[in-house]
Amino acid sequence: MPELPEVETIRSGLAPHLSGQRITRVQMRRNNLRYPLPNLMQLEGQMIYGVERRAKYLLFQLNSDATLVWHLGMTGQFHVLPQQSAAGFHEHVQIDLQHGLSLRYRDARRFGYAGLLATERMPQHPWFANLGPEPLSSQFDAEYLAAQCQGRCVAIKSRIMDASVVVGVGNIYAAESLFRAGIHPARAAGRIAHARLALLVDAIQSVLREAIAAGGSTISDFVHSDGTPGYFAHQFQVYGREGQPCYRCGHAIKKITQAGRSTHYCPRCQH
Ligand SMILES: [Zn+2]
Repeated sequence: MPELPEVETIRSGLAPHLSGQRITRVQMRRNNLRYPLPNLMQLEGQMIYGVERRAKYLLFQLNSDATLVWHLGMTGQFHVLPQQSAAGFHEHVQIDLQHGLSLRYRDARRFGYAGLLATERMPQHPWFANLGPEPLSSQFDAEYLAAQCQGRCVAIKSRIMDASVVVGVGNIYAAESLFRAGIHPARAAGRIAHARLALLVDAIQSVLREAIAAGGSTISDFVHSDGTPGYFAHQFQVYGREGQPCYRCGHAIKKITQAGRSTHYCPRCQH
């Protein structure tokens, strides 16, 4: 499943090819994914003036005070290809642009979904209304996280993975951030000192920034690319390393299950 860094990498790869382009033709090869798709044919003639991101939603900003919002689900992929290229397997939507390229959406499992929303009412839409701040924004700082953790018995890992607290901290990035900050993933959120929460904010931000940088370097040639940005397993300190020695202290990395998700951590470095 694409996480925030992957979606941000996709956004930055798409934006230069889409921004300022008029939509000349739309082909919908099916009219539903996870939910029914909006009628995208009504976008013909409109201009895409930017591609933004909120949490894991891609936001295609149109010139009609509307935003095409797209979530990639489990297996959704966007590609930019010449219009004459044949439709690939599981390619459900093709949006042709005035410069001769087209935006293609593929999704083998079809858990992706899209909506055409009035831009000014987006913050109240159910997809967005309960989302916490972006992890890389100035709103997400130690004071904010401390307030969100105060008096909470829930495990810190569950707290930082709660999208109403902060968006985009998925299972892998939560585990990596907690390792960097030296915090045990099962520690009660309300029992962590402010200074340690400040370290955690720094860790979350640096882990995500590094993942975005790594993703960006792998798909610099976004046009004609059939690749999809993935994880960079060699960079993980704890995730997927059960039984292997901790890079910091040599102790075996441990795996536990929390709220149905596997968590990896070093029992010596994290407390
Ligand atoms: Zn260790």
